Parts: sequence; structure tokens; C-alpha cells
Amino acid sequence: MSADQIGTIIERLKARWPQATYELDWQTPEQMLVATSLAAQCTDERVRAVTKTLFVKYPDPKSFAEADPAELEEELKPTGFYRQKTKAVLSINKALVSKHGGKIPRDMAKMVKISGVARKTANVVLNCCFNDPTGVIVDTHVHRVSQRMGLSKQSTPEAIEQDLMALVPQDEWTFFGPAMVLHGRYTCTAKNPDCADCVYLDLCPRVEVDGPRPEGPPRLPPPVTSEPDLDAWVQALGPEFDKPYFKKLMAFIDQERAEHQVFPPEDEVFSAFSMTAFDAVKVVILGQDPYHDDDQAHGLSFSVKPGVKVPPSLANMVKELKTDVGATAPKHGFLGGWASQGVLMLNAVLTVRAHSANSHKDQGWETFTDAVIQTLNNRAEHIVFVLWGGYAQKKGQIIDRTRHSVIECAHPSPLSAKKFFGSKPFSQTNEALQSHGQSPIDWSHLPDR
Ligand code: SF4
Repeated sequence: MSADQIGTIIERLKARWPQATYELDWQTPEQMLVATSLAAQCTDERVRAVTKTLFVKYPDPKSFAEADPAELEEELKPTGFYRQKTKAVLSINKALVSKHGGKIPRDMAKMVKISGVARKTANVVLNCCFNDPTGVIVDTHVHRVSQRMGLSKQSTPEAIEQDLMALVPQDEWTFFGPAMVLHGRYTCTAKNPDCADCVYLDLCPRVEVDGPRPEGPPRLPPPVTSEPDLDAWVQALGPEFDKPYFKKLMAFIDQERAEHQVFPPEDEVFSAFSMTAFDAVKVVILGQDPYHDDDQAHGLSFSVKPGVKVPPSLANMVKELKTDVGATAPKHGFLGGWASQGVLMLNAVLTVRAHSANSHKDQGWETFTDAVIQTLNNRAEHIVFVLWGGYAQKKGQIIDRTRHSVIECAHPSPLSAKKFFGSKPFSQTNEALQSHGQSPIDWSHLPDR
């Protein structure tokens, strides 16, 4: 494979998985080492569920090293092979404490000398926690994908890594490994590689892949028009943050968080703004209240993170998406792929007390989000506002319809779904954008990251 082709592969990986990283939860590199050890023959999802409580009980190598083996075995049972994993976790942490002062040694040679740490595990920790390009992560996904794509004919992870290190520039190693893991996990899967939906179809020899090569061009990811950026929003909305209502609102939220569980988590309340840059907004989809059940709300209206059950309103949106623009239904409900194309997914109220719908209404968020809409309304560039249901339509009365487009229809909730189905909001939005010389949204671009 030529350097140009490798460059193209990396470029497309970056467009498809811009934030690629290993899908484990960790606060410290030492925790990442434990999580990676548990991930052998186990799904990342299950490891995340286990480490959620495990790292509270054993936050550092010392507490792991001193753990009661029988108790630890019980904790690790859901990850499978728990007896071996318990032994490995204990031995790794004892070594960290006795030989490395309780810290990860940032050195591949020292890492692989720790009993229970293989080169792949060391690469995961050093690549992902320190951004150290010590090598290329080769797990089962990278192993399989590298062979299918003709990047390596070798059969051992070590030999495949050598081939990849020779092909991929070193400053890309820490991105390339995690991104290829995601490609293997979600597109080039072991049993059913989705070649028809693959960004590499034109470059890939599909070594030992059954079935005919799908026809047509590869499905290239759309250009990302919006980089995470809060500065322009802060500048545009600056005066709001100093107003008495906003200070009162923040005090209310602090009090709520002190006494109750509040969704979304604190660092995701403003995700709609960090995922769609102010200057990139060309569509606004207005929602009302964040989801109030566990793990649902993450700061984008209607969206849930991958792995979370798709709520009914979102399921109806996906159905309409299919009939309206023929988009394939994604296997998740994460709408970040729209946000990165300039779709601001804004709720009227940005927080909610757990399991208590509308519990944060009339506390000040509505004033803040009215200011957001007004600020966008004042912008010269044309914006399409999508207003589903009476609440959003009332809130959208301030929009200047001589300069912007407004698409109104019933809410996708099961209560009004009959009227929502057939309303074609997605194709209407694109028509409005194109009639103003703006590029359409690729509504089917819904990567799960
Ligand atoms: S074209 Fe098919 S075999 Fe090749 S990388 Fe894509 S999904 Fe895998």
C-alpha cells in the first residue's frame, strides 16, 4: 500500500472517528491498566459497568494490592475468566506499588516486565493516557481489519504491529490504533462486515471477505463543519451569564445537585453548544425537557448515547427519517453526527431532576434558551428552525420568518406520532437550506461517536 493510500485511510478515519479513543472509563492511567486487563474476552460495555463501582471501592493501586482476593473475584465475575483476572489485577497492582511507586512507568520496556501486562495492554495505556506513540494497538479488531484491508499478511499481533508501524507515520500511531478498533467494532465486524457502508470500499482488497463487492462509490463521511468550540457561544451569549436570573438559576442547580441526582451530568449540560459551533449553526431542532431516566440525557435534545435504549420519540424520528430520506436506521440513538454538521439540538430547559419530568422548568432556563434563539435569529445567515409540537412552536414565535425558515409539525412523541409521520421534516429542511445556497444535512450520517 502506498503512502498516499495510507494518508487517505488516516484522513477518512479522522473524519469518521474524530475523537477516537479506547471505549473504557478511567480517571487515572493506573485505572486504565486495570480496565484494559479486564477487557480481555469481555465487552467494553460490561467492563464499564463493572469499573463504575470497582474504582470507587479500589481507587488506586494500593487499594487493589491490598484487596481481599475472594472479594475481588466476586466483583470481577461479570467480566468472565474472573479467577485469572483477579490474579492478574492483584499482581499488576502489587508490582506498581512495590516497584513503581504506585504509578504507571511511562516506558514500554518497564511496562511489559510487569507480570500480566502484554505489549497490547501497555500500548493502550501509554497511547491513550499519555499520548506516547510507543507502538500501534493491535487487538482482535485491528488484527482482523489489517488483514482484510491488506495492511498486513502476518498472523501474530506483534508481527502485524510491526507492519503497521512501518506503514503509518509515528505521529499518527496513538490515533490510528483506537480508530481502527472502532472501525472493526462497528463497521468491519467479524461476522458481517458492512462493506456497502464502509469509507474504505474503494481502497480495500477485502481479503477473505465472502460475497460480491458492493457496487457504487464508498460512503465517505461528510465534511465536519463544526469543531467543538464554546468560545464563540460565550462571546455571543456573554451578557446572559451576568444577569440576576442566570445567577439564581445556577444557585438553584447547585442546590439541586447537592440534594438530588440531576441529568445530564454537569459536564454535559452545554454539550449542544460545544458540539455545534456558533458560526456553524444552520439548523435548530428545538426540544423541551432533557430525558429524566438514568444515562439518557447528555445535552443534545432528543439524542441518547450509544448503548442507551432509544426512547419512543426518538424511535419515531428514526422511522420518519427512513421514510422521508431513505436513511438506514442506526443501531443507536446518538445524534452527534447531525450536531457536527451544524444542527443545534437545543432543549428549552437544560437540566432535570432524575425521574421527575419538567422539574427544572420555570427556574430560568427558558429565559436563557430564548436568548439563544434570539441571538441566532439576529444572525444574518439563514437558519432552519424545526419546531415540533405546540411548546416549541410557541417558543419559536420570536423567529423572524422573513429571513429564516421555520418547519412546524406535530411532536414525534407517541401521543402525536400519527400526525408527525409523513411530515417530512428532514427533506423539507434540506430543501430550505439548498434554496438559500446552503449545503444540505446528511441525515443518515450518524456515527456512534
Ligand atoms: S470494505 Fe469491507 S472488508 Fe474492507 S474495511 Fe470496509 S468493511 Fe472491512
